[in-house]
Amino acid sequence: METNKSKRRIVVLGAGESGFGAAVLAKDKGLDVFLSDSGTIVPKYRERLEAEGIAFEDGKHSMDKILAADEIVKSPGIPLDAPAVAAAIAKNIPIISEIEFAGRYTDSKMVCITGSNGKTTTTMLIHHILTHAGVDASLAGNVGRSLAYQVAREPHDVYVVELSSFQLDNMYDFKANIAVLLNITPDHLDRYGYKMQNYVNAKFRILQNMTPTDTFIFWKDDPVISEQLRHIGTEARLLPFSETPEEGSAAYIDAENELIFNTPGTSMSMPRADLALNGLHNVFNSMAAGLSACLCKVGKDAIREALADFCGVEHRLEFVADIDGVRWINDSKATNVNSCYYALEAMTRPTVLILGGKDKGNDYSEILPLVKDKVKAIVAMGKDNAKIMDFFKGHVAELVDTHSLADAVEACHRLSTDGDTVLLSPCCASFDLFSSYEDRGRKFKEAVIELSKTTHK
Ligand code: ADP
Repeated sequence: METNKSKRRIVVLGAGESGFGAAVLAKDKGLDVFLSDSGTIVPKYRERLEAEGIAFEDGKHSMDKILAADEIVKSPGIPLDAPAVAAAIAKNIPIISEIEFAGRYTDSKMVCITGSNGKTTTTMLIHHILTHAGVDASLAGNVGRSLAYQVAREPHDVYVVELSSFQLDNMYDFKANIAVLLNITPDHLDRYGYKMQNYVNAKFRILQNMTPTDTFIFWKDDPVISEQLRHIGTEARLLPFSETPEEGSAAYIDAENELIFNTPGTSMSMPRADLALNGLHNVFNSMAAGLSACLCKVGKDAIREALADFCGVEHRLEFVADIDGVRWINDSKATNVNSCYYALEAMTRPTVLILGGKDKGNDYSEILPLVKDKVKAIVAMGKDNAKIMDFFKGHVAELVDTHSLADAVEACHRLSTDGDTVLLSPCCASFDLFSSYEDRGRKFKEAVIELSKTTHK
């Protein structure tokens, strides 16, 4: 094994977008870098690693090379109990995330977004407002390009960074200038020892290192966030948002259905009806985005325009087609019960709901009142639908058991009439019938488009 003893040795685990970017930044900073991926590195990154002359391996983890690291940059997808990671922890080798690593080499402004639901939408919305206003802002984290790669090769003034709890797990010295915490509901508990508090603690790491010149934007109505704030201290300036006007709220909806924003530098309003995105959850996302933009000194008109013309994000309450008066909507990203709750909350017409997939320990009682109120039929779509069929039996007029997308779409078509909505908002992961939620959403859209070409009731 060749190592350069005089240089600090960085080992990167995982060769996806974040791992590749971290390796390039380490190389540019003159560090001794080695990348290891236990799977097969896709050609796109393999070719670029070769072109960069970065040492790497795939299909295995050579422990002698990994344990020679001074520091390990771990992809968020690799759990802490993976053997290579566990061995490094046992040897007291520091393990950090790509965001932590990149943060050391930039002074650009960091707008960071976390939460159980709404991260991507809010991240894209903030980025849209900033770029609309001419700010040199770029996406990073779970969306867009690797932060480390951009810091190394394509620097920007502002980064809008979507942070999952897994990324936050391995962040220590990184500091957000603006931190947004949208909500906290149970998710990913399998990675947190089935203890909700561990997951809450991970989310609150977004606050660490913040100073009085930094700002924490959060949803005031969330009981989990409020409770945690009672126990932890922060020096950051607090900008809470809430559904209705409450003492201290920096954003809310007033009695005239106007969104009000009040930050130290800006006071503005806009009619709720002008928001591009539907649903109460998107009002909250828009509040968080508007407050962030005010803090970045974007003008009021630019904020109003951008909140009004945002095109939405694929697989999030995405309109697919109107077929004979039935609106078909793809919300494949709703992989937990809470996100389906907000999708149903946004429905204004009788709804045929497609549920199902890989259950992560779901409790469907959260959506039962909305189902009773708005759903005329449930079409279960999954390998094993027993839990859904049992739970909703007797609560909806029609309950159909299907095991393929084609059968589910056919059932929805049969059960819906002019004025209805068909909503794919499955509450579950996709891995029983599909490779990812994107795969599920795209195949759903293809099937709906196909149906629109062939069908007239
Ligand atoms: P994330 O990146 O956190 O997974 P997304 O923006 O991709 O969030 O949205 C995922 C799903 O969560 C959407 O399909 C939508 O139904 C729901 N959702 C979006 N924003 C919120 C919110 N603020 N609160 C609750 N649910 C939301």
